[in-house]
Amino acid sequence: MNEFELIAKYFTRPAKHAVLGVGDDCALLAPRAGYELAVTTDMLVADRHFFADTDPYRLGHKSLAVNLSDIAAMGATPRWALLACALPEADEDWLKSFARGMYALADRYDVDLVGGDTTRGPLTLCFTLLGEVPAGRALRRSGAQAGDDIWVSGELGSAALALAQLRGEAILAHDEAQHCHRALHMPEPRVALGQRLLEHAHAAIDVSDGLVGDLGHILECSGLGATIELKALPRHPSLTARFAIGDRDLALKCMLAGGDDYELCFTAAAS
Ligand code: ADP
Ligand code: MG
Repeated sequence: MNEFELIAKYFTRPAKHAVLGVGDDCALLAPRAGYELAVTTDMLVADRHFFADTDPYRLGHKSLAVNLSDIAAMGATPRWALLACALPEADEDWLKSFARGMYALADRYDVDLVGGDTTRGPLTLCFTLLGEVPAGRALRRSGAQAGDDIWVSGELGSAALALAQLRGEAILAHDEAQHCHRALHMPEPRVALGQRLLEHAHAAIDVSDGLVGDLGHILECSGLGATIELKALPRHPSLTARFAIGDRDLALKCMLAGGDDYELCFTAAAS
C-alpha cells in the first residue's frame, strides 16, 4: 500500500461541513459569519506520550480527544481536524483500528477530517483542530477576576493513578483499575460544558499537566493568586481510598500534578 492508497482507504471520507476536504493541496473551510476560528495542535510521540504498543483504537480516540479538550477550554465548537502522522509501517490492522477510534469520536462531535500529512517514521500523531467561537467571546486564561470561585469538572487524578499502577507505584483493586485505565486511555473532552461556560466563566483551561500547573497558568495570565481546598478536590473513590491506606502523597500527587485529566478548570463569580 503506498501513501495515497493509505490516505484514500483510512483517512478519506466525505466532509459534511467543508467546502473541500481531503484530496487537494488545501482544504477549503468557511467559518460562519460572526465567529472566530479557534485553532490548536497537539503532538503525541510514541514512548514519550504513550506506549508504542497502546491499543490503536484507544490511541485514535485519545490523540483526537486531547485536541478537542483544548477547543472545549476556549468555549469553542469543534468543526475540522487535520492529521499529520509518521508511521513506522503501513500496518493495515493498526490503521483500521486507529481510524475507527478516531472517527467514532469525530462523529460524536460532528468533526470533519479535512486533511493532513502522512510519512514513514517513528510513530508520531499530530492533530490540528479548528473550532468556531462567537467573535470576542472565547474563554481566555487571562480573564479571571479577584473573588472568583475556582471550579473543576469531573474528577482529578484517576488517569495519573492508572499510570502509577503501570509503573508499579500503586496497587489497585480490579474495579479501581478499570475506572482509572478508562480515564487514562479514553478521556472524554468536555466540549458541551465548554460551550455552556461562555455564558458563565471568566477564564478557563483544560487540565492536561495537573491542576496546580494549569490553574497556575490562569493565575499568572490574570495576575492573581488562589487558595485550593484539598478537601474540595473532585476525585474518584479510588483516590480517596489512597488516603485511608496511608498513600496520601501519591493521592495528592495524582490529583494536583498528575496530568492527563482533560477536565476543565474555570473561574466564575460565586453567583
Ligand atoms: P501535498 O503533497 O499537496 O501536501 P499530500 O500528497 O501530502 O498533498 O496529501 C494528499 C491529500 O491527502 C491532501 O489533501 C492531504 O491533506 C491529505 N492527507 C494526507 N495525509 C492525511 C492524513 N493522515 N489524514 C487526512 N488527510 C491526509
Ligand atoms: Mg500539493
